[in-house]
Amino acid sequence: MKKQVVLYKKLSPALMARLQEHAEVTLIDSLDAEGLARLRAALPHAHGLLGASLKLDAQLLDLAPNLEAIASVSVGVDNYDIDYLTERRILLTNTPDVLTETTADTGFALILATARRVVELANMVRAGQWQRNIGPAQFGSDVHGKTLGIIGMGRIGEALAQRGHFGFGMPVIYHSHSPKPAVEQRFNAQYRSLPELLQQADFVCLTLPLTAETEGLIGAQQFAQMRPETIFINISRGKVVDEKALIEALRAEQIRAAGLDVFEREPLDPDSPLLQLDNVVATPHIGSATHETREAMAGCAVNNLLAALAGELPKNLVNVRAWKD
Ligand code: NAP
Repeated sequence: MKKQVVLYKKLSPALMARLQEHAEVTLIDSLDAEGLARLRAALPHAHGLLGASLKLDAQLLDLAPNLEAIASVSVGVDNYDIDYLTERRILLTNTPDVLTETTADTGFALILATARRVVELANMVRAGQWQRNIGPAQFGSDVHGKTLGIIGMGRIGEALAQRGHFGFGMPVIYHSHSPKPAVEQRFNAQYRSLPELLQQADFVCLTLPLTAETEGLIGAQQFAQMRPETIFINISRGKVVDEKALIEALRAEQIRAAGLDVFEREPLDPDSPLLQLDNVVATPHIGSATHETREAMAGCAVNNLLAALAGELPKNLVNVRAWKD
C-alpha cells in the first residue's frame, strides 16, 4: 500500500507526478486558517510531510503518530524541534547545495543595491525627481576593493567569498565556529574574532543558521563596534539580529546602510520603521527564489522524502541520530 504524504507546498506537475507514483498525496495549497485546519485533519494519517515556511512544533506533530519523515524545502531547519523529531525517530531532511549559488547572488544583489543606493535612486527616477545631474548627496560607495566580512563561513558564505574575491577584488575576512584553511587558501581569506570582523569589515554579511547560539547574536553592542561606513547585510535569518538595535544603529548613523532579506517577523510589518529609512533595502526573503533553484530544491526534497519512506538513508538527513541501522 502507498504511504500517505501531506504536501504543504505546491510542486511542479513533473515532481507531483513523481511523488504520486509512490505515495498518496494530500495537497494543502495554502497555509491560511482553512489550510491549517486541513493540515491538522490530515496529520493523523501522514507518513511523510513535505513543505516549507511552517513552524512544525510538537503540538502539531503530536497529531501525526505515524509520521516517519519530514522533507523541508529549505536549508535552514529553524522551523523544527530537532530533539523532539529525533526522540520520535522522525527523519528530517533539508535541501543544501542546490540553493547555495542563488542565495549568494541575493547577498551580492543586496551589497550592490545598498552601496550604490540602487533602489533609492531608481525610485527617485520613477517619481520624476531626476531633474539635474546627480551630485555628492546621491553618491554611493565603492564595492570593489572594499573589505568583505562574512559571519558563518559555510556553503553560502564561501560562495559569497568567491564572488567578492574573484569578481570584485575584495579582501575577505570571516568569522565562523572554526577556521577554514581551504577557504583561506582559495580566497586569500583571513579569520577574525567577531569583534575584529565587526570593526574591520566594510560589508558585514550574515550567512549563519538560526540556532539557540546565534539568536540575537548581533545587537546594540555589535552595531556599536561597526563603523559609520559599514554596510550590514543579512541573508541568514531575521532572529540572528536584534531588529530594534539595528533600527537604532541606522537612525544614529552608527552604520551606513542595511540590505535585509530576512526579518524577525515575516512578512515584515508595512509599518516597520525599517521601511521609513532610505538606506535600507528590504527584500521579501528571496534568497533562493528563482524558478530554477526552487524547482531544484523541491526535487531534492521529493528525493529525500521518497528515500526516507522507502527505508533508505536520504541524502540530506539532518538528524542523523534518528536513523536506525
Ligand atoms: P552551512 O553550510 O551550514 O553554513 C553555516 C556556517 O555558519 C557554518 O560554516 C558554521 O560554522 C557557521 N556557524 C554556525 N553557528 C555559528 C556561530 N555561532 N558562530 C559563527 N559561525 C557559526 O549553511 P548554509 O547552507 O551556508 O546556509 C546558512 C544559512 O543561510 C541557513 O541556515 C539559512 O538559515 C540561511 N539561508 C537563507 C536563505 C534566504 O532565503 N535568505 C536561503 C538559504 C539559506 P562551522 O562550519 O565552523 O561550524
